[in-house]
Amino acid sequence: MFEIKYKDACGRIGTLDVNGKKLETPYVFPVVNPNLLEIAPKELKKLGFNAVITNAYIINKNPELREKALKLGVKKLLDFDGIVMTDSGSYQLYGYGSVNITPEEIISFQAKIKSDIGVILDIPSKPDIKREEAEKELEETLKRAREASKLEARKKILLVSTVQGSTFLDLRERAAKELAKLNFDVYAIGGVVPLMESYRFTELAKIIIHAKRYLPLDKPVHLFGAGHPMMLSLACALGCDLFDSASYSLYAKDGRYITEHGTLHVSEMNYAPCNCPICSGHGLKEIKEDSKLLALHNLYAIKGEIERIKEAINQNSLWNLVGQRCRAHPKLLEALNAVLSGEYEKNFEEMEPATKSSAFFYFGKGCMHRAEVVRHAERLKNITPSAKSLVLLPYRQYYPSKTGSNEKYSVCYLSPIFGIIPSEVEEVYPLAQHIFTLPIEEYQKHMMKRAAYEYMKNFSHVFIHNSLRELGIEGEEITSDVQKELVRNDEIKLFGIGDYLFGKGAGKIIFENCTVKYAKTKKMRQVFDKKRNLIATIRASDGIPIFTKQGTLKLKKLKFPRSRVVLKKDEEVENFIRKGKNVFAKFVKDCDSDIRAGSEVLVVNEKDELLGYGKAVLGAREMLAFERGMAVEVRFGFED
Ligand SMILES: [Zn+2]
Repeated sequence: MFEIKYKDACGRIGTLDVNGKKLETPYVFPVVNPNLLEIAPKELKKLGFNAVITNAYIINKNPELREKALKLGVKKLLDFDGIVMTDSGSYQLYGYGSVNITPEEIISFQAKIKSDIGVILDIPSKPDIKREEAEKELEETLKRAREASKLEARKKILLVSTVQGSTFLDLRERAAKELAKLNFDVYAIGGVVPLMESYRFTELAKIIIHAKRYLPLDKPVHLFGAGHPMMLSLACALGCDLFDSASYSLYAKDGRYITEHGTLHVSEMNYAPCNCPICSGHGLKEIKEDSKLLALHNLYAIKGEIERIKEAINQNSLWNLVGQRCRAHPKLLEALNAVLSGEYEKNFEEMEPATKSSAFFYFGKGCMHRAEVVRHAERLKNITPSAKSLVLLPYRQYYPSKTGSNEKYSVCYLSPIFGIIPSEVEEVYPLAQHIFTLPIEEYQKHMMKRAAYEYMKNFSHVFIHNSLRELGIEGEEITSDVQKELVRNDEIKLFGIGDYLFGKGAGKIIFENCTVKYAKTKKMRQVFDKKRNLIATIRASDGIPIFTKQGTLKLKKLKFPRSRVVLKKDEEVENFIRKGKNVFAKFVKDCDSDIRAGSEVLVVNEKDELLGYGKAVLGAREMLAFERGMAVEVRFGFED
């Protein structure tokens, strides 16, 4: 069983339950050759690798290993008490074209030697083969998967089935759809090693995205044969959870030194750009002479990158890490550009958290297709302008802190990333927290002009700041008399925030007759109703209102199913939530499809009775897909 704790982009930190042991993802399995234990699996565990992958086919082929494995189990054979995953021989099939074992035999063998995670024997299709051939091979893979899904051995072992389909994206989709029906424990994406070897990262990225579209969200996805630190962050951002690497050892034999930016030939190196215990404890000279030391460094390099990726997910800065890594090689950058070309906007928007703890950094044109930008364009439509006159200012020009929309003027800023930003929502994530490069690029100027003219249609008068005339935008001058009148109206600001976050008209329902208190930072801090009850605190980090009990009752006035997580009928669970306990995914019956991880949500029962209020941990699709893990972190419950 798999559950997720933190997420960013399509990446996730999760826990896979393996026979009572926990495997935290993202994770790279070191590949262990059962014939040649160069680095003892025990040593790998000391390095922090508590799971390894070895090859059941090779064990089965060698009479001595086979006998020992059947008698003692694969863990004793490897002298390893962690989690053992076994591969099935598909890779050998790939290399030599045939294996002398049936698909059923290899699965039951994996179960007999007490492997924790086994792989079905599929047909790995090579890239660029003829379509008929890829189709034929895929049909065979699917037939084997269907048969494997019915085997008795399944009860004893977690089973992996692999998405094939060569370089045909529609075949990859078909494979994912068909395999998803069979409820495997882990899904893999296979046949991609040749793509990685020839730096065809764009095709690799597209294969992952197209497969992920149809694979079940609540299962981990293993990218077979991938484990190089330079591409791990991208693969994680696309939704891969598991990887494996033989390269730490194969590269070492070849004198190759792995870094997060690529691979170096150790013989050509004069300095070690690494602080792992091997590099800092031994020095380059020794490493050059000892392939085991080099293999250990390579393992540290892989582990270090996995830790960085996890922390980036934790900090909601995974795209920043991906942006850095993909600049290590033009073919990685090409892949990132393809991923962020706009074609996959929807895939990312559905998975991306609603708010983030780190700022939106602009690293190039692709950022314009990130979920934050796509969402802003949609949410902007929710806001009804407060007046018939528009005042358009450049983003982040120094205006008096009380500048903002009122009944006479609707004040907006023009950003090179988000286009029109109504002053009402200037403090809401990501509008306040976005940092871009100067000078503004040509395409951004065109976008800004287009956005300005599109928005101007709503107004009878347009006043523009002089600096915007350089973009070719025309309008009346903002005289000092006009400027004096640009003082924000608090209620209008609140209506804007409400509409922006909860839909057209929501602001008035939630915030009518409310007053506010400002912090020393001059940002709106607290919201009170007309009886002076505190109804919400505006969170300083992202400008999102966090409601009190009184405020939650106002939020509840929004039309069903807005902001709701609806629970299955269960009195015991209802009582738990009323007492302020968290909501687990398996109890979620339905929810507002606009909910994303980090959204503030209402927890209700089927009769729409309010049970609690809290923060969504998962997005709408995930809440419905997962059977395990937390769905809503409840802030407080509502007793009957
Ligand atoms: Zn090192």
